[in-house]
Amino acid sequence: MPDLSSSPDRTPEDVLAGLDYWRTLVAKQQPQWLNRDGLHTASSEIAALPPLVFAGEVDQLRERLATAARGEAFLLQGGDCAETFAGATADQIRNRVKTLLQMAVVLTYGASMPVIKVGRMAGQFAKPRSNDTETRGEVTLPAYRGDIVNGYEFTPESREANPARLVQGYHTAASTLNLIRAFTQGGFADLRQVHDWNKGFTSNPANARYDKLAKEIDRAVRFMVACGADFAEMRRTEFYVSHEALLFDYERPMTRIDSRTGAAYNTSSHFLWIGERTRDLDGAHVDFLSRVRNPIGVKLGPSTAPDDALRLIDKLDPHREPGRLTFITRMGAGTIRDALPPLLAAVRDSGATPLWVTDPMHGNGITTPTGYKTRRFDDVMDELKGFFEAHRSVGTYPGGIHVELTGDDVTECLGGSENIDEATLATRYESLCDPRLNHMQSLELAFQVAEELTK
Ligand code: PEP
Ligand code: MN
Repeated sequence: MPDLSSSPDRTPEDVLAGLDYWRTLVAKQQPQWLNRDGLHTASSEIAALPPLVFAGEVDQLRERLATAARGEAFLLQGGDCAETFAGATADQIRNRVKTLLQMAVVLTYGASMPVIKVGRMAGQFAKPRSNDTETRGEVTLPAYRGDIVNGYEFTPESREANPARLVQGYHTAASTLNLIRAFTQGGFADLRQVHDWNKGFTSNPANARYDKLAKEIDRAVRFMVACGADFAEMRRTEFYVSHEALLFDYERPMTRIDSRTGAAYNTSSHFLWIGERTRDLDGAHVDFLSRVRNPIGVKLGPSTAPDDALRLIDKLDPHREPGRLTFITRMGAGTIRDALPPLLAAVRDSGATPLWVTDPMHGNGITTPTGYKTRRFDDVMDELKGFFEAHRSVGTYPGGIHVELTGDDVTECLGGSENIDEATLATRYESLCDPRLNHMQSLELAFQVAEELTK
């Protein structure tokens, strides 16, 4: 094999060989597939199935993200921590899309800019875990790694990595994406309708503090309608999907060479990100994603040194291509004001201009005495505010938010205007992984971010 470790891939053979270079590197967080024959069959089957997204859409998202990196647009990325196969129902998909659209209207007003909408949807099925195993009482079994790998049920059969789930993951992503496309192109996303939904939120007395902003948005929308504005952008909306690129046995067979350009695209999703646990510079994930044309995100936790960020840029975005690289910081509310400014300054001084996005969820996890994994809405908001402050102090642009949310009325995060407390968590805690903002908390967050953006 030629040395493909650093030189840019040139011939089609090199591009293809490069896509398998990760096999020579350490790939963290991969399941142990005992059924090797089944794995081989599933991989071949997925490799022969049609792409889920078209390379042209991926290029378009990269261009949109470039505008956000320049401070001319704002990214809203959100969805489940872990999608499940059982959760891929019309109602649940609709509620999540609806929530993101509602948030986007509020943020568009707040930012006075286009909001790029990206779901953590249609492929967010694989999860990194802190431990490879889980012990309950006397029994130790493999950890749940997401529906695309194994089952949540705590039995040896369910917890064994099952290659048939890879194929089911593809089909579940396909039907989810199909419904998202139908909703966002078929009239459901009409601005006037989305605005009407938001009126329901702000007429709730619990949300009186957002009344002023809500009235301003209402006046702006009524003005447009009175002017007779009725353009395509009012009735349809661009909506992209994303997930963590974690599981090589899904991501590799979904990666194809685009016949138009000869370049490699991961056709499982428009946008892919590398998680905090798999972003090692010399690891398999960074190498693999350095070779695809999709816009790429990298999560950066509180231990990230300025030099780590600079070396990730060199590896993932050597040509400093606008929109190519997004840094998703997840520092923790108590840490962001100290940890983020030095990173922003070092990257700014290097001349690179990645898109900076905040994930105010993953640095703020707590476990209640009763054993629920949760997050405080106030901590989430505090990290968001710290994100804006850090960018203001360094002179860089706070380009978006990345949140775990659902459109349903779950009780997984503490606080918000409904005052979810520890006793309430048990009433409707449905996440198999991290706690999500519910519908109301998501809208409240959008209003607070809009306030921040209009400061
Ligand atoms: C996640 O986004 O669900 C996740 C696991 O995040 P992180 O890699 O930042 O911990
Ligand atoms: Mn999560």
